[in-house]
Amino acid sequence: MPSFLEVLDACLRFRLDAVAFAALGLAGCYGCWLMVGCRHAQRDVSKATCGLVAIILLAGLLAAEWIQNQRRESLTASLSALSPTLAHEIERMGHANIPTPASPNDQTNQAISSAEGEWLRLNHPLARLFTYRVAPNGTLQVVTEPSGGDRGAPLAFTRAAPADFRQALIGEARFYSKIEHPADRASVWSLTPLHDASGRVEAALALGYPAGIWIGALAEARAIALGGAAFLLGVLLASATLVALMRSEIREHAETARQLHLAKTAADEANSAKSDFLAVMSHEIRTPLNAVMGFANLLSETKLDDSQRDYVATITGEGIRLSSLVNDILDLSKIDEGRLVMERLPFAPAETAHEVLRLLSGRALEKKIDLRFEAQFAGPLLVAGDPLRFHQVLVNLVDNAIKFTSQGAVTLFLHWTPLEDGTTHGHLRVRVRDTGIGIAADKVKDLFQKFMQADTSMTRRYGGTGLGLAICQRLVGLMGGEIKVTSTKGEGAEFAFTLPFAAVALPGEPALPEPEAVGTRAKPPRILVVDDMETNRFLLEVFLRRNGFEPELASGGAEAVELASRKQYDAILMDLHMPDVDGFTATQRIRAAEPPGHHTPIIALTASIAKGTREKCLAAGMDEHLTKPLDLRKFKALLNSFIDPNET
Ligand code: ADP
Repeated sequence: MPSFLEVLDACLRFRLDAVAFAALGLAGCYGCWLMVGCRHAQRDVSKATCGLVAIILLAGLLAAEWIQNQRRESLTASLSALSPTLAHEIERMGHANIPTPASPNDQTNQAISSAEGEWLRLNHPLARLFTYRVAPNGTLQVVTEPSGGDRGAPLAFTRAAPADFRQALIGEARFYSKIEHPADRASVWSLTPLHDASGRVEAALALGYPAGIWIGALAEARAIALGGAAFLLGVLLASATLVALMRSEIREHAETARQLHLAKTAADEANSAKSDFLAVMSHEIRTPLNAVMGFANLLSETKLDDSQRDYVATITGEGIRLSSLVNDILDLSKIDEGRLVMERLPFAPAETAHEVLRLLSGRALEKKIDLRFEAQFAGPLLVAGDPLRFHQVLVNLVDNAIKFTSQGAVTLFLHWTPLEDGTTHGHLRVRVRDTGIGIAADKVKDLFQKFMQADTSMTRRYGGTGLGLAICQRLVGLMGGEIKVTSTKGEGAEFAFTLPFAAVALPGEPALPEPEAVGTRAKPPRILVVDDMETNRFLLEVFLRRNGFEPELASGGAEAVELASRKQYDAILMDLHMPDVDGFTATQRIRAAEPPGHHTPIIALTASIAKGTREKCLAAGMDEHLTKPLDLRKFKALLNSFIDPNET
């Protein structure tokens, strides 16, 4: 079993440490390569990194050699430092007078031996010390050895004495460090010639040092060089691996972001195509529907027998259903695209609630359901918000409540809580409760999804499309609230939400005064109807006449411009899409020809719901924009709001 020192010596001799260092470095490189390979990051390992690895490996090996040599030289110098002094002392004590072969009884020999013993004791780490000469037979012989203090058996020169020992006998100081047996107690030697009185070399002094000092110091020097290089290599490999992995991750992220962007662009394009499709389709559906509903309306006011009246009622009912379906789909697509802009107008929620209940009271009466309204506040609460959308949500919820209730009551609650922050802000809580069929617990969470119906078998019985609640949820969200439902199957349901509002007039305060309409007209207001479709012109003509207006008809933009330049109208109803001159151009021409200070209200009537239509109308000089099919009641109110009651 070789000793540790022997293993260390073998390492130094065969440069096993350098081999281990290079192998470890290359293994580290390979390991890192495999690691980045699993993330496909190998192409991110730069050539510079590979070059640096090679340089550090080479530099480590060279540095180990260089530092070992440096250490050897400095060790040789320091271990040889004692030799000249001791050699001089031995010469002074008369070593040259000791005869050959030496006798232990010789006095000089004894004196020198005892001095050597003393030196050996005092000079740690000196391991061995003796003087030697060439015997007459040519072999080397020990002359003096330390007495008492010797720490080992006399050197027997059993093997051929190394050349350096003889070299010292011809006058050259040598240092012998070729360690052949590290187990020897002294393995490196400082050899100094001894001279007699005439200056002739008569013997040599050998000072031996333990192999451990020598091997340990050299191994330590190499370990520092190789360890430092290994550390640098480790840091380099770790950072290169980290950088490669990060770069690969960044690349993956960038790729994901690119894919997402592509997907989003594709989705946006698809969405935009969907909107365009819906706009065109609704235009195509609304135009004929407008005529169907209008004429059904007119027909219902003529003399009809009972079955004819039923037919007309069916046409009107189905027309309303179709129209509300188209409106629902368009509303949803507008909301989902973020195109729905909420108005901010003063309105009285209690009044809206009354209007909704009035609107739906017929259906409740038919089903013998009690329709109730409970407001926690008394007097007029006016808030700033979007009355139309608030109305739409209430209609949907109360309509559903009546639809899914066969007996009992539907109650609409309004509850106002002012904020105690010194402002007029507050929260309006709205609840619609019914005693109807209720909703199964597992259906509640999906209720607000598009086209979702809790029980499809109900569709056949109650009708509906499953869009109402989806729209309500989005509208309530846009108004700043969240709609929630609580229900027990078979016992009824309650839909509730809370909206933040700023109050314009609080309960108890006087409401805004209603503008008084006083009319002193002598003649009915004259309205110019511009539409290229004869049915539409005819419908509007009948409607206007019936409501006390005096209509005039133009079948295209050019004719309208010509008529407007000759006559004065109280308002112009302008279709947008016409084959000759379209509504936008016609309006611009009418406005250009108007005398200063004069402004004829022009209202656009169109079946188009394409994005930005209203803005385009206003930009062309129109005053308002209405979509077909027309809600005749609203249309009349709007028309009246534009006509000066006092002007003739
Ligand atoms: P529609 O009523 O047109 O089917 P909605 O989106 O308004 O569409 O309603 C979706 C579904 O939610 C209805 O089909 C019904 O199953 C359920 N629902 C809505 N309101 C009530 C209610 N008050 N009571 C019981 N079920 C309801």
